[in-house]
Amino acid sequence: MSFDLDLFVIGGGSGGVRAARIAAAEGGARVALAEEYRMGGTCVIRGCVPKKLMVYASAFPGQIADARGYGWDAAAGGFDWPRFRTALEAELDRLERAYRSGLTGAGVTIHDTRATVLDPHTVQLATGQTLTARHILIATGGTPFVPDVPGAELALTSNDIFRLEALPRSILIVGGGYIACEFACILNGLGVQVTQYYRGAQILRGFDDEARGHVADAMAAQGIDIHCGADVLRMERAPGGGARVEATNGTDRTFDAVLYATGRRPNSAGLGLEPLGVQFGRNGQILVDGYSQTAVPSIFAVGDVTDRIALTPVAIREGHAFADTVFKGTPRQADHDLVASAVFTQPELAAVGLTEEAARDREPIEVYVASFRPMQTLFAGRQDRALFKLIVAQGSRKVLGCHIVGPGAAEMIQMVAIAIKMGATKEDFDRTCAVHPTMAEELVTMKKPIRRS
Ligand code: NDP
Repeated sequence: MSFDLDLFVIGGGSGGVRAARIAAAEGGARVALAEEYRMGGTCVIRGCVPKKLMVYASAFPGQIADARGYGWDAAAGGFDWPRFRTALEAELDRLERAYRSGLTGAGVTIHDTRATVLDPHTVQLATGQTLTARHILIATGGTPFVPDVPGAELALTSNDIFRLEALPRSILIVGGGYIACEFACILNGLGVQVTQYYRGAQILRGFDDEARGHVADAMAAQGIDIHCGADVLRMERAPGGGARVEATNGTDRTFDAVLYATGRRPNSAGLGLEPLGVQFGRNGQILVDGYSQTAVPSIFAVGDVTDRIALTPVAIREGHAFADTVFKGTPRQADHDLVASAVFTQPELAAVGLTEEAARDREPIEVYVASFRPMQTLFAGRQDRALFKLIVAQGSRKVLGCHIVGPGAAEMIQMVAIAIKMGATKEDFDRTCAVHPTMAEELVTMKKPIRRS
């Protein structure tokens, strides 16, 4: 049977773009890709990239305050949000162009429109055109989820933050995950009065308990008003503007804006996949095997739409492994083990491997902790503390997990992840000479476990 194409990719985000590019440039495949919004997907257009630039923007008041501690006569002045937003949009345009030229340079045909699947080998574009392909890759990502509370239509999501006309004076952030905590710190740094409601007992569920507590304390010390065990009951438009919010903690308060950061859901509905026999999980995620293949052999899926690990580098690897498997004759599965991640709060939290809680359920462990005031901020008169934590298996001596809270934590964890991925033991860490004076030297100088369990 002959097809118009070897591969049709639906979705121009991290996973889809990588798969299309490798299949075309290295696999010699005839590839087309459809994207209904902007090329680059969540990471580039409304996620990691603009978020990180906002993290940088929000850090300046703290850095300028520190500069005074070092003898500089410095003051932050006012933050010009429209000026920042214009520069941000220009940068995103540049990145989008780079993604496009990367694809077209590899020989991929781009369709700037929505595509749906008609049968296991046919896609239909919103323009009405149909195309056949030997393989179809679904890489449609995810979308913010807002629970069905009365007044939910007043809620902003992370998609909206980058496009605000003006920064609000006050904001309620609902949720305690990556996005909620990152935006709480960003907006606080930019001068917005931030309140955060999280339904559970402690923010950042899934991370090491001690590290979560450390970040929560630091966020509160910076002036973020965190309420755990609190959720929104209802919202309504306040007479003077903003939203009036009644919450389960008995409060009734008005905020200029409310940001819901209550998770993301896979973008899998309405693609035409249900009647074809593609299987879905409880949250709408497309179920795939280790090779990212769905229950329909010609249809594959990668990235957030499969809800395995919702991180850009993971989607990229899944897309690459798919292209290697199907188009280069080198079958391989993306490796989801020991994936490091970082939450760009201030201070940053970064982790790889097991938390203390998960590790001690598995085997006897030792826990090494160093908590101290970093030289740089201590000198400036700040009270911030950094935390370094290693979880070590008593039997094999392998380092099972590392958790870092502090400036540069995300950069440091990338290096630690290599060692842990290689199976490094505590003794391997110990025989590595320290780099002095740094914070990271704590990783190789922690002598005695503070706990065994
Ligand atoms: P998360 O899953 O991290 O957090 C969702 C938060 O919303 C949790 O605190 C959850 O509470 C809460 N929540 C969920 N449903 C409800 C509800 N019905 N009512 C009230 N609260 C609710 O999702 P995010 O949206 O923050 O981020 C999505 C994913 O994107 C992340 O998991 C991560 O994989 C990725 N990401 C990564 C970043 C990075 O690498 N730095 C940055 C941003 C996103 P509970 O804990 O009780 O379930």
